[in-house]
Amino acid sequence: MAIARCKQCGRPSGRNVKSRYANQPHFPAGHPASGVVCGKPNCENDALIWLNLDEERAYQDGKRIFGIHTHTAKIRVQ
Ligand SMILES: [Zn+2]
Repeated sequence: MAIARCKQCGRPSGRNVKSRYANQPHFPAGHPASGVVCGKPNCENDALIWLNLDEERAYQDGKRIFGIHTHTAKIRVQ
């Protein structure tokens, strides 16, 4: 499942990450004013969207809507 992380926090990796993620992130629609915020605790930077390898293949085939981990993603409101 896609993960929202800012440029500084970078590509999801490590023991708790269940999928392998593509090397390059994608911009959420409207970036940098998308309202999607990095999912790392204590980070409030605007997020990029990291797709796992299956999602990256779907992106290459034209898919543009992906689920994200809602327990970690944050959204900025006006
Ligand atoms: Zn971050």
